[in-house]
Amino acid sequence: MLRRLFAPLAAFAFIAACSSGTESSEPENIYATEEGQDSHSYARPLEARVTHVSLDLTADFEAQRMVGSATLDLEIADDAEEVVLDSKGLEIREVVNGEGEALQWEIGEDSGDAHGAPLTVTLDGAEQVKITYASAPGAAALQWLSPEQTAGGNQPFLFSQGQAILNRTWIPTQDSPGIRQTWDARIVAPADLRVVMSADMLTPDGETLEDEPELLAYRFEMNQAVAPYLIAIAAGDLAFQELGPRSGVYAEPSMIDAAASEFEDIEAMIDAAEDLYGEYRWGRYDLLVLPPSFPFGGMENPRLTFVTPTILSGDKSLVSLVAHELAHSWSGNLVTNASWDDFWLNEGFTVYFENRIMEAVYGEARAQMLADLGWADMMGSIDDAGGLEAADTQLHLDLANRDPDDGMTDIAYEKGAVFLRTIEHTVGRERFDAWLRSYFDRNAFQPQTSAGLIADMRANLFEGSEADEIDIERWVYEPGLPENAVHVESPRLRLVDRAAQSFAGGGQTANVAWDRYTTQEKLRFLHALPRELPEDYLATLDDEFGLNEANNSEIRFAWLMLAIANRYDPARASVEEFLTSMGRRKFVAPLFTALSEQGDWGTPFARRIYERARPTYHSVTTGTVDETLGWEIEEDA
Ligand SMILES: [Zn+2]
Repeated sequence: MLRRLFAPLAAFAFIAACSSGTESSEPENIYATEEGQDSHSYARPLEARVTHVSLDLTADFEAQRMVGSATLDLEIADDAEEVVLDSKGLEIREVVNGEGEALQWEIGEDSGDAHGAPLTVTLDGAEQVKITYASAPGAAALQWLSPEQTAGGNQPFLFSQGQAILNRTWIPTQDSPGIRQTWDARIVAPADLRVVMSADMLTPDGETLEDEPELLAYRFEMNQAVAPYLIAIAAGDLAFQELGPRSGVYAEPSMIDAAASEFEDIEAMIDAAEDLYGEYRWGRYDLLVLPPSFPFGGMENPRLTFVTPTILSGDKSLVSLVAHELAHSWSGNLVTNASWDDFWLNEGFTVYFENRIMEAVYGEARAQMLADLGWADMMGSIDDAGGLEAADTQLHLDLANRDPDDGMTDIAYEKGAVFLRTIEHTVGRERFDAWLRSYFDRNAFQPQTSAGLIADMRANLFEGSEADEIDIERWVYEPGLPENAVHVESPRLRLVDRAAQSFAGGGQTANVAWDRYTTQEKLRFLHALPRELPEDYLATLDDEFGLNEANNSEIRFAWLMLAIANRYDPARASVEEFLTSMGRRKFVAPLFTALSEQGDWGTPFARRIYERARPTYHSVTTGTVDETLGWEIEEDA
């Protein structure tokens, strides 16, 4: 059960007074605002709030558990007697205060879903609590890969994924994006693995432990307060390659060269981002290429972006994903959605910013193509949501009693970006850029809500009646797509659309300049084709463009979606190979959905592949596909 709790006024007054010296111009405490309530956390931050987390954990690969302790520093209102933390499946062994004296604690009823259960500690005046615990073997945030599931095949691999509300499965803290915490960690792991985290890495090579030569200890420190979903860890057979003065890449040794050349423009991207919206504030920017089962394209863990190996295309054609994760160093990590209802504040801003970085580094034509493709993705998401009237096409959502993942659609990403682009076109780029830069400065290291953004824009961006002309409240709080939405159109994609039309008319490829197309044009071509095509047309495409064997994951995916829609038998082996070679949800989930919509042709095939592939997927991916295929029902039977 979820709770929206309004704390007693006394507690609010206490914390507000603590957080700033002045009384008269006191900003409203965000936790006391309506949109500042996080329905996906049990925490009551107006009463007691975690400010620092200190982890001391051993990664037990055999038991697949993190075992050790978390010591939490708290900011407590005068009359608060307890602190409420988030937990899911944690085995709590002991809770003590700063002096080591036992404290009373209780785990409440588990919600039965991702929200988990409240862990309530009676404080007895304590301002620090130390929780000794172990994560459950199936903790949703952690994936423990066997050596066979890695590229190298020799060592196991561990990685975490905290967003949205998964970190409560391995860290007992207040797992709410609005409750920023500094943190440090000491992690003990097998000596043949390297441990990395989203923090300052104090011991890059680890430290030997007396009497335990088979283990190494690593220490990490994050002195900038972050949303707790951004605490991330990975451990495996990792090589490192320097890319620039403040950047580098970690990957399994077999992938390190490919990764280093794919990401060689990273310093240029950081420079471009800084030119646009101000200083990069996190010190280093490193990338970690994960094994193929990583469920996301990328995850913007501070100082250490996690990326899928499916963007290693060999020609840098998919590096906009890196621009995206880098942009999150401002939008998302510096200024963070206070609750998952405002996920669009993280993603819409980031897609907009990503496109500006791509324009600065790779030119306007490529940025236009990406924006235009994004528009098509947005329209697709609006359709999926049920059309323009559907409540889920709003930017600000009400996700209470729902999984926050429900809001992770291209509405948040692309409609959010289109909204900002529409504002940019109205006020002009110069004014928009100056405002956005100042917005990041004003709100740095703070949570933000839609209401807070709108207030900031009204105070610092708009002149006269601009806000009302754009109708900003409608953009944020109403479904659909306002008529003033700015659609950036790419002339090159228009040509591709015509080529697709011509092919659809007669099955001839004379007008299709496939070999000269960029990846974005190839994708557009495949998307622009009618969903129903004769079999010999599909055979022509496959023969001439080698689509069943395409190495570029985006092109392969676009082709397979088309092939499945047409029950094209020669693509079946390619579908199976692709789905068993990576676990990126963006590809895996739609492919299984498409297969399951093809009755006898697709469903048994999908179930057979899934049975094989499921153990290699992350819980984020299986959570989605289980539902599509009704898998849980079968497992329980
Ligand atoms: Zn993002």
